[in-house]
Amino acid sequence: MRTPDIHDLLKTRFGYDEFRPLQAEIIQTVLDGRDALVLMPTGGGKSLCYQLPALCLDGLTLVVSPLIALMKDQVDALRANGVAAAFVNSTVPPHEARGTLAEGRAGRLKILYIAPERLAVPGFREFLGSVDVSQIAIDEAHCISEWGHDFRPDYRNLHVLRERFPAAPVMALTATATAQVRDDIVRQLAIPQARQFVASFDRQNLTYLVRPKRGAFEALLNLLRQHADGSAIVYCLSRQNTEDLAADLGDEGIQALPYHAGLDPAVRRTTQERFIRDEVRVVTATIAFGMGIDKPDVRLIVHYHLPKTLEGYYQETGRAGRDGLPSTCVLFYGASDRHALTGFIEQIEDESERARARHKLQRMIRYSQLQTCRRAYLLDYFGEAYDQTTCGGCDVCRSEREEFDATEIAQKLLSAIIRTGERFGAAHVIQVLRGGRGRRLRESGHHRLSVHGIARDYERDELHDIVSLLEDAGLVGRSADRYRSLAVTPSGREFLRRREPLTLTRVKPLEDDAPQPRPGLDHLDFDRGLFDRLRDLRWRLAQARNVPPYVIFGDRSLQEMACYLPQSREAFSGISGVGRVKLNEFADDFLTVIRDHAEPLGLAERPRTRRRTGRDRATRRQGSTYRQTLDLLLSGLSISEVSQRRQLTEATIMSHLERLIASGETLSLERELPPQERLTRIEQAFADTESWNLAPVRDLLGDDFSYQELRLVRAWLDQQGRMPGDGSDSNAERPPA
Ligand code: ADP
Ligand code: ZN
Repeated sequence: MRTPDIHDLLKTRFGYDEFRPLQAEIIQTVLDGRDALVLMPTGGGKSLCYQLPALCLDGLTLVVSPLIALMKDQVDALRANGVAAAFVNSTVPPHEARGTLAEGRAGRLKILYIAPERLAVPGFREFLGSVDVSQIAIDEAHCISEWGHDFRPDYRNLHVLRERFPAAPVMALTATATAQVRDDIVRQLAIPQARQFVASFDRQNLTYLVRPKRGAFEALLNLLRQHADGSAIVYCLSRQNTEDLAADLGDEGIQALPYHAGLDPAVRRTTQERFIRDEVRVVTATIAFGMGIDKPDVRLIVHYHLPKTLEGYYQETGRAGRDGLPSTCVLFYGASDRHALTGFIEQIEDESERARARHKLQRMIRYSQLQTCRRAYLLDYFGEAYDQTTCGGCDVCRSEREEFDATEIAQKLLSAIIRTGERFGAAHVIQVLRGGRGRRLRESGHHRLSVHGIARDYERDELHDIVSLLEDAGLVGRSADRYRSLAVTPSGREFLRRREPLTLTRVKPLEDDAPQPRPGLDHLDFDRGLFDRLRDLRWRLAQARNVPPYVIFGDRSLQEMACYLPQSREAFSGISGVGRVKLNEFADDFLTVIRDHAEPLGLAERPRTRRRTGRDRATRRQGSTYRQTLDLLLSGLSISEVSQRRQLTEATIMSHLERLIASGETLSLERELPPQERLTRIEQAFADTESWNLAPVRDLLGDDFSYQELRLVRAWLDQQGRMPGDGSDSNAERPPA
């Protein structure tokens, strides 16, 4: 069997135009029969790496995953694309599981999801003896390692799969792996030859913001209103916090449900389900929420309280924007949370564990107080260098900096540190400066110091910021023990003695924290009103089919529909996310809504201008399918000769040719063109219909003209920069208002 072109499959089966980074290389590795270890961040697109090869290979692809709650959603999504997929796990009644396995034995399944426990079930071992497995995918592969955070003893049995099917390539996938865990995976699965793929952990579509804790509730309301058309998760520190906050939001007219481990399992399940199905938009949660959720369109993640570690923070924010669309992550930071967490940590009994926790919290606090790029800091923490000087996608990079005269406040702070004996942490010193009268303060007699109350006009958090700045400037140091007590450094003393002026630079708080497109990211200008109507339709179709809405179409697909206004099946099929099966299933419903919206407003279809940059790379890359077609065409072969040589249909070669032209290649098409008389009629028909669409042109010309012929003429016109209509580019419509 010849291997189908993987780019074609990407479009026809999954509806996508382009691979995400590394996907194509990983897929090719499996198709070459080699094992692979895939490290990608959440949202990197791991599933496609084994799902697409599953369609190329003859036998069954087994996917092992510990996340039982996700299996059904994944299988629903595959089935919506016409892929024969199923799952067996403890939630499936035995007779159903038997039926599924019978399907597998009969060769009617392409992908079967199982939980690792299944391997120990005798009936399943028997099944493995009677089925042809051609690929083994191990999802969440870090679960095999005791060094990881999610060890599953059952994962230790997975090597039996390798032994039972020595010829089937194994793909291990994970989003979290230190070098130690990585080695463990390779060793435990016995895949020493696996090619290792490590994607960048930079989530380009996420914007990272840190806000002061002061006025956090008002700020949260604003954020939720700004992101009113997407889902949001608000992470809180305690169970009680989640319930209180949900109630407070409810009072402000924003429906939110709390989620934490103390709730009844049935309640938790329903909340999760309602969130996934877009029945409730906001969930206030402890970190117990999220593991079992694959929702691709979470647009906002808020940390209402300070997380304990950057690992946790990165993982939780990673749940935003899996679909690659712009999404926002906001952390509220204030001194009170810092104290609460420090308090928890000091209760940890084990000495070394306590030290580790303290160290991790310090890094988290440092992140919150940064005056440099937050993305760069995050990536550095995970061992990845970030070479841009500004990311454009964090509050620090987006803010202006301001210089301020810090001479007086620095003198006050340093004096207070000295007067209190350099034995106290920032919180105490700041209380003294602000004229506090707490018990500890009175007991220490510090309310009688001359520095008491000399900085009343400063906010507490503001003073904390200045302490950090003085620390950065080398005038203040902190002890390494748990008290983090402040001391004045020799240069600090020098500064006091000489009474020098001091200028510090601080980040001006961002006035406008509305989500903004980041430079270099794809941004669509779409019609909001239509988008909302399409979302309603998606929701109704999903309810009727009992699946989550994103299984029907992702937000990106709806945005494209609301931007390009496709009005024929042909144009609809060009939308991202529309593969063959979804075209047949959903085109009519969506086209009706689009036409109903467009017609009264007199809006015409817009050609889906190809994204040049991405495509240029795809078409130029050595060895890419486009490159191969291009080389053959340039060597003088005709379309039909290329199609024979490459064993691809003429329609496929034609689609390559269109894409090559769109990305700016020049090809001589003259000798492929129909005779002059037919050419003139086709040109005229494009002009008459004033559109790039083939269907109306064909209607006008009749069956005597093939689509292939029309596509070729269209490509030729495109190459010459001639648009349908009056010969100018009048039909390149303006974006809808
Ligand atoms: P991960 O498992 O790495 O977190 P997923 O496999 O769940 O990521 O993919 C995240 C989202 O990206 C899904 O909604 C998926 O459909 C989408 N996706 C994957 N590959 C592509 C692609 N090549 N083009 C567009 N969307 C993609
Ligand atoms: Zn930045």
